[in-house]
Amino acid sequence: MKSVAAIAFGSGQPLTIEEVEVMPPREGEVLVEIAATGVCHTDAVMLDGLNAKAGFPAILGHEGAGRVVECGPNVSSVSVGDSVIPLYGAECRECSHCISQRTNLCWSIRDTRDQGLMPDRSSRFQLAGEPIKHFMGTSTFSRYTVVPEIALAKIRSDAPLDKVCLLGCGVTTGIGAVLNDADVHPGDSVAVLGLGAVGLSAIQGARIAGALTIIAVDINPSKEAIARKMGATHFVNPNTIDQRVVEYIADMTSGGVDTSIECTGVLSVMRDAVEACHVGWGTCVLTGVEASGQEVSIPPVWVRYGRTVKGSYFGGVRGRSELPGYVDMYMSGLIEIDALISHNLNIKDVNKAFDLMRSGESTRSVMHFE
Ligand code: NAD
Ligand code: ZN
Repeated sequence: MKSVAAIAFGSGQPLTIEEVEVMPPREGEVLVEIAATGVCHTDAVMLDGLNAKAGFPAILGHEGAGRVVECGPNVSSVSVGDSVIPLYGAECRECSHCISQRTNLCWSIRDTRDQGLMPDRSSRFQLAGEPIKHFMGTSTFSRYTVVPEIALAKIRSDAPLDKVCLLGCGVTTGIGAVLNDADVHPGDSVAVLGLGAVGLSAIQGARIAGALTIIAVDINPSKEAIARKMGATHFVNPNTIDQRVVEYIADMTSGGVDTSIECTGVLSVMRDAVEACHVGWGTCVLTGVEASGQEVSIPPVWVRYGRTVKGSYFGGVRGRSELPGYVDMYMSGLIEIDALISHNLNIKDVNKAFDLMRSGESTRSVMHFE
């Protein structure tokens, strides 16, 4: 079938809108009509050519929600008409990682996903007879996309897809990084560095966990209002204070925060996030995605003196099992999504969504296909 899609042909080039051919789902695969999709910073990392593994041309997008249109042979967990959120992290429930119950990193189809292919090593997208890659296994910048059954979270049918699409990445990552990967106790102090959809959602997570002091950090002053709405008690712009942000946080919290959450992908901020933790017990959770090959260094004494450094992938959430619960949290009003959506655009304006993200004008842009 034909589908409108935004294709990335190479790094540094704007996406182009094309009509691609989408092949029917094969065994264990599902054809999904995407209703709406967010634009996440990780799409920009790819577009900037900083993701060494994934190749071009590719259909980007990994923060979508839609409905099942057709199931390939031997698909049993979803049916036509179901509301679903595509998962860039599958949950096969059979690999050693899934069985361990110690991680949400299912490794079953990781290799092919990272190469932009379906598990049988082929693509379901074609343009002028040439295959187009499936970025992150989701390719939600196509109205119709094919996703392995094990990479679909079936969600309740009354959830508004143009809102819960953000649970496909940013919102879940931020909230889960706090609730699953950090260890925030009621009354604690938390610093969140970087206030995009991930950081703003980490603030929500800190609020839900009962943190008393929530310090929001961003170089863009326009983020203060939304950060406070999400639950931040303090806002600091590192560019407008006359000391290092780490010293500022230490002064505010008698030595450092109990937990810091890094949400920028900027190496110097990652280092600051570690240093901002309290000696003896502070935990730093890194969520930002660095350019391929980049490294961050810290003096070992920082961790020898009791700090913990962790990372978080999709907020530690097992998508098929746990994402429906995040949808329930949204539907019951416990978590905020609507206020994070600053722009609603047609997919044809996808490049504008990237511009808005890079300029810091948007919190999150949601793309629509009609
Ligand atoms: P975003 O671009 O919407 O927001 C990033 C924010 O960081 C912006 O508000 C920007 O002003 C701020 N910032 C930039 N440099 C800064 C600095 N030096 N100090 C303080 N603030 C600074 O990004 P997003 O979509 O919220 O994603 C955040 C990061 O998380 C990205 O690196 C993204 O790739 C990554 N990510 C990781 C996961 C995961 O599973 N771990 C999931 C989603 C996104
Ligand atoms: Zn993302």
